[in-house]
Amino acid sequence: MPLLIVLLRVLLLLLLPTLGQATSLSLVASDAPLLPGPVIHVWADPEGLADIHSVRQLPESAWQPVARRDASFGYSKHAYWLRFSLHNPAAEVIDWVLLIGNPLLDYLDAYGLDGERVYRAGDQRPFDERWVNHRQLVLPFSLAPGEERELILRMQTNGSANLSASLMSNEGFTHYEQRMLLLQGLFFGALLVMLIYNLSIFVITRDRNYLWYSLFVACFSFYQFIQLGFALQWLWPQALAWHQLSFPLSSALATLFGILFTYGVLDLKTGPAAYTWICRALMACSVLVIVLAFCAPYTVALIGSFVLVVVCAVFACLFTLLRWRDGYQPAKLFALGWSALILASLFSILSGTGIIANSLLTLHAQQIGSLFELVIFSIALGSRIRLAQHAQQQAQEQLYANEHELRLEQAKSLDLQKQINEGLEARVAERTASLQHALQELSTANRQLAELSRRDSLTGLFNRQVLNEELERMLAQAKRSQRPLAMLMMDLDHFKKVNDQHGHLVGDACLQHAALRMQQRMRSNDLLVRFGGEEFAAVLCDTDQSGALDLAEQLRADLTSHPCTYQDLSIDLSLSIGVYALIPDIGSDREQLLRHADQALYRAKAAGRNKVIGYEASALGDV
Ligand code: GH3
Ligand code: MG
Ligand code: MG
Repeated sequence: MPLLIVLLRVLLLLLLPTLGQATSLSLVASDAPLLPGPVIHVWADPEGLADIHSVRQLPESAWQPVARRDASFGYSKHAYWLRFSLHNPAAEVIDWVLLIGNPLLDYLDAYGLDGERVYRAGDQRPFDERWVNHRQLVLPFSLAPGEERELILRMQTNGSANLSASLMSNEGFTHYEQRMLLLQGLFFGALLVMLIYNLSIFVITRDRNYLWYSLFVACFSFYQFIQLGFALQWLWPQALAWHQLSFPLSSALATLFGILFTYGVLDLKTGPAAYTWICRALMACSVLVIVLAFCAPYTVALIGSFVLVVVCAVFACLFTLLRWRDGYQPAKLFALGWSALILASLFSILSGTGIIANSLLTLHAQQIGSLFELVIFSIALGSRIRLAQHAQQQAQEQLYANEHELRLEQAKSLDLQKQINEGLEARVAERTASLQHALQELSTANRQLAELSRRDSLTGLFNRQVLNEELERMLAQAKRSQRPLAMLMMDLDHFKKVNDQHGHLVGDACLQHAALRMQQRMRSNDLLVRFGGEEFAAVLCDTDQSGALDLAEQLRADLTSHPCTYQDLSIDLSLSIGVYALIPDIGSDREQLLRHADQALYRAKAAGRNKVIGYEASALGDV
């Protein structure tokens, strides 16, 4: 790095014309200020202890020509004694000023301006000690016609030992001053507009990048305000310690916000993690310089702030280029903006360190560069708004598209749901119908089963179980209505023989035949059951003893006259019947009916079979 600086310096010295060693400068008014550099000789006092008397007695050989347009010695704590002669070639008295354009010089003493009166100024001396109330150091003097006068200046500073001296006639200075104030007004006006504009955008959009940018602009403006000497003149003419630290402080603060702004606007968080780490490290360095401004010696903080600016500028450039390469659109404009500022800053620093000579251009390089940068950045921010609007529009369109798609999906899903529901309802209806059908079938089957369980499988007549149930009911009804109820007990005669002679199949057919014949004679409300084996019972409603005997006789006669035919067989059958009829009273019950009818049957059997016998209580003894 030092090698590079030396090379640069050599190159610049080669490029700049070597100026002849004139002995004194003739003060002839012109449009441009005169630069005394070529006639200045310098003697450096490392200790800074020499006084004007000892300096005046220095041998001629101790003085070295500056040989450049301006006396600039970089960062050095030496006291520099500068000697030069001015000559008035005119025939009248002239009033001129020596303008020291670097208002940050700590101490400047001038001898020979006004007799024995010593000019003492610098930003480490109270502002009101200055001869002229001006942000820069203005040293007025008069020269008599033809007079040649030697001026000796002593310059000592912790910052850049850079005189930026120029000579102007009083009128020239007035013109210069008006022009400069207009330019500075425009410059700070532009900064203020940028600040207000970006702050307003921040307030509206809440995009923090605008805040960082506004703070960056504010700190940068402040830095410029200090550097140009306005701060000491207008804001804190007595606060010298604060004035000194405010310079590196404002620089470091501007750098800090510049990093934050660059990080956000270049969207570095979307890049590799290294970007974020580098930015954090740079921010930490900025904070360190801020702390140094308060704690460390001024030179350390000042050099720290310059190094920080250079390093950050390099990284900002690098990030901008990398993001540009990634195709991030705002990076192009940023590249342009940064380049303007960086170039300007480099110019400023190089002139500050004395590598390149001071001129009005280099003196205001940072201002010009920053104005460029501000304009370009504000265009870039505008383009970023357009990008954001575009993105928002796209997002909105996407949103509409998504919503449309969603609605379609919703409609589809509703359709599907409907279909499913319909299918489900159909299936439920189908299932319900089949269930109802099954239930119906089941109940039919149950009914049939119940019916079957009530029937005798051979004859199809009700069985004895039904007799038990129905008899109870019919008896109760007869009791209520006091109507007669008759009971017939019937038994096929010598049926065992039928089985024995013809077999059980024929026997079964005879049983079916007898049952059918009996059933045909019954009324609808009579009950005929197979009582068991070859025995049958009948319950007759509203039938008294004689009616019952009549029916019994008909049954017996019918069966006797109608033999059972089976294949080519004709089997004669006969029937014995016991009859019992009563009008039931409170004591009448089922057993009584059965028992009495059975007793009558027994008697019919005993009487030789094929008989109908009515129950008689008196006949009990015969049984
Ligand atoms: P009685 O005149 O004294 O009644 O003489 P019987 O032979 O009819 O009476 P018994 O009680 O001695 O015999 C009844 C017979 O009825 C015996 C049995 O073989 C026959 N029998 C009972 N149930 C059935 C049946 O379901 N099918 C056939 N084929 N025969 C039956
Ligand atoms: Mg029997
Ligand atoms: Mg029998």
